Amino acid sequence: MTTTLDTTRFGAFGGTFAPETLMAPLFELEREWKRWTADADFRAELASLLQHFAGRPTALTHARRLSRELGLELWLKREDLLHTGAHKLNNTLGQCLLAQRMGKSRVVAETGAGQHGVATATACALLGLDCVVYMGAVDAARQRMNLLRMELLGARVRVVEHGQRTLKDAINEAMRAWVGDPTETHYALGSALGPHPFPSIVAGFQQVIGEEARKDFLARTGRLPDAVVACVGGGSNAIGIFRAFVPDASVALVGVEAGGEGVGKGQQHAARFAGGEPGVLHGCYTYLLQDDDGQIRPTHSISAGLDYPAVGPEHAMLHDEKRARYSWATDAEALRGFEALAKGEGILCALESAHAVGWVLREREALSGQHVLVNLSGRGDKDLETIASLRGPEREGA
Ligand SMILES: *Cc1c(COP(=O)(O)O)cnc(C)c1O
Repeated sequence: MTTTLDTTRFGAFGGTFAPETLMAPLFELEREWKRWTADADFRAELASLLQHFAGRPTALTHARRLSRELGLELWLKREDLLHTGAHKLNNTLGQCLLAQRMGKSRVVAETGAGQHGVATATACALLGLDCVVYMGAVDAARQRMNLLRMELLGARVRVVEHGQRTLKDAINEAMRAWVGDPTETHYALGSALGPHPFPSIVAGFQQVIGEEARKDFLARTGRLPDAVVACVGGGSNAIGIFRAFVPDASVALVGVEAGGEGVGKGQQHAARFAGGEPGVLHGCYTYLLQDDDGQIRPTHSISAGLDYPAVGPEHAMLHDEKRARYSWATDAEALRGFEALAKGEGILCALESAHAVGWVLREREALSGQHVLVNLSGRGDKDLETIASLRGPEREGA
């Protein structure tokens, strides 16, 4: 009997559920990605860009005041310090360099919070590639500054006015643009999801986060963390830090999804593991939020980056294997996480990352005395308008 390893899947999840027109570009991408990521010059150039342009390695910070207050040892992997303010650039530098090696002149991308659009526009400007970013109208309205950033970096932004007008609709449009001109165009997908080979490509470019964090944590403390915690939108920052720790059975891996208003019946959220079940979206079999008729359910999160109805397939596998556990933090808990880090440690983090911090605050008794490593996926500058609008009445009353 022979067993073949199906590299297009993560256990039962992942795969390529794509229309015929997408298959040829996906096969080409898989072939070229394998070729170039094995190439010593490609790897050296990417490593050099990550160090000298993006600012890797990022810091590992011991959150001293919060640790004392919470009765645990809290450590932060500082992806908020990466150029453009989030982990996204690890992936876009990798994919845009790949596009250049593949001889493509144009890169298309989708964006939710705007962070992936900014990171793609940045990598394209650096490498001299034409850049088109698709962004839902709702996201464009709540992230106006990122829209401006993309345009200043030379990208063309196409605002998507149909569907729920958020990330899901932007992905559809970007895929359509790719299929329309696959010879000249590369599609730089922004998270560890979509049809194979995207989940593997993105996780591969993000795993530098965990490699650095594991090495630094060992060097600083002489031990491994008890728990590694990361927020999960599509899942790229989480898988980026998790992968290095998967073989360490003593390390608990915790993914924190957007609990929105709460995960009860009738409440809106984006907690795919708490409230969803397996199905197919954007070419990939994974956990997603759908109604009884198989229609994608509307999602809600205070953070645009976590506001997506499906989760990356590698997380679905880690969940079903029980190697990682997935929880959620509500909008209110994320805001508490944001405030704790701001006043306690001098860091304004992204509202996405604040979900991981909010989860630690909620679970502090269970985590008592433990070494907890949180992946701080991004900085909060882009969220200040959102936070200001929530604080308005409170300040008037003060
Ligand atoms: C995009 C984004 C996320 C969510 O995406 P993942 O692929 O789940 O990492 C989280 N944090 C920040 C700061 C982001 O910009």
